[in-house]
Amino acid sequence: MLVFLLIGLVPILFFWKISLSSYESQALEQRISEMKYHANIISNLILNVNYFAIGDSGTTRDIASEISYVAEVYKGRILIVDRNLQILTDTYGLEENKTLISEEAVKGLRGESSTYTDKENEYIELVYPIIKPSEKEAQGIMIINFSISNIYEVQSGLAARLGVIFAFFTVFIILAVFFLAMYFIRPWREMMHAVDYLSDGYLDVQIPEKGFTETIHVASVINEMLNKMQTLENSRQEFVSNVSHELKTPITSMKVLSDSLISQPDVPVELYREFMIDIGAEIEREDKIINDLLSLVKMDKTSGEMNIASVNINELLEMILKRLRPIAKKRNIELVYESFRPVTAEVDEVKLSLAINNLIENAIKYNYDDGWVRVSLNADHKFFYIKVSDSGVGIPEEAQDNIFERFYRVDKAHSRETGGTGLGLSITRNAILMHRGAIKVYSKEKEGTTFTVRVPLNYIL
Ligand code: ADP
Repeated sequence: MLVFLLIGLVPILFFWKISLSSYESQALEQRISEMKYHANIISNLILNVNYFAIGDSGTTRDIASEISYVAEVYKGRILIVDRNLQILTDTYGLEENKTLISEEAVKGLRGESSTYTDKENEYIELVYPIIKPSEKEAQGIMIINFSISNIYEVQSGLAARLGVIFAFFTVFIILAVFFLAMYFIRPWREMMHAVDYLSDGYLDVQIPEKGFTETIHVASVINEMLNKMQTLENSRQEFVSNVSHELKTPITSMKVLSDSLISQPDVPVELYREFMIDIGAEIEREDKIINDLLSLVKMDKTSGEMNIASVNINELLEMILKRLRPIAKKRNIELVYESFRPVTAEVDEVKLSLAINNLIENAIKYNYDDGWVRVSLNADHKFFYIKVSDSGVGIPEEAQDNIFERFYRVDKAHSRETGGTGLGLSITRNAILMHRGAIKVYSKEKEGTTFTVRVPLNYIL
């Protein structure tokens, strides 16, 4: 508002000042030229009749009355002074026959005319030499004092009128600026309300996308950000509730088992043994969930620290397979390893082996007895590729998008038997993403599943 007011009012003030002062200077100039005009006429008269030589006579008196007339019209005073600086005529009749001593008068005798404007007392003084064009020295001088009070009267009238216009404009500009500022601020103010609400911690607001192009743009960017935050918040809440649920389940089972033992009197030792075995299994499950959770936290893309080293991937895969072979053997599942070339890559060995281990472990877990699991390794100049295929139960099409989510299991009821926590594939995916790699799944129910992993040979920060 201040800026607009300045822009609006400063030119008006300026205009006011300029117009008043230009009127004043123009009017003064005009007055001086009028005075010179009259001075010229009188001076010609004086020179024609040889006024200074003839002394007091009828002719000089005629001229004196002519001079008085001019002085009266202009509310002024005219003095005629001779070469000896003696005042011959004073239209006020005050100083006649006296001697005038002033610098201007001396200059006037030398032929120089001068003017002096006294704004305070509102008059102009003109010193005019009475001189013949052919002569060098003036015969005398004329001093004309004219009032300029009427100029200032007109000027103050003008100032009053301009003042009214100025006041009118000021009010107009203030009003216009006020409404304009309101208009410009309104969309931002609405946005501010919404943002205030946001800062109170409510994420479920949407900033109204209206107003100017800029506000619409800002609002839509904020809204987009809000949606992302909301999604993150939802998944965080879901994760926390899943974790609590998963951790509670084994504890609830143990509580039920122990309660049932305590509530019965004479429980046979065999039953104690049986229930204690069940409790042991639940503890193991709890331990597995906690371990998986810890791995997941470690693999969190944002907090993870990578321990990068040059690793022989062929050896890494062989080691994982060697570890898993006994489990496969139990169910007579064939484990095949195919390597197309030796591969060395910059990876975090612990994280990558955990990721691949989960894939192969799943391929065995979700397989039929007497099935097969094939692991292959290949590379080009940029990436290495690991493929884990199995002849297992497969993943239903509609579940394939969800298997990488935390705690997601296709068959919840069955997963307690297989010991699944639903965290394995999210750990795997996080580990692969931390290596700037990619993972994909192809699966057909009851036929089998293939996971393909692509990881850059050189670690990119
Ligand atoms: P879990 O600990 O239950 O194995 P994962 O995150 O490793 O959890 O896997 C999520 C789900 O994906 C599993 O519950 C399982 O249903 C399905 N799944 C994973 N790998 C395979 C596979 N090779 N064959 C069939 N289903 C699989």
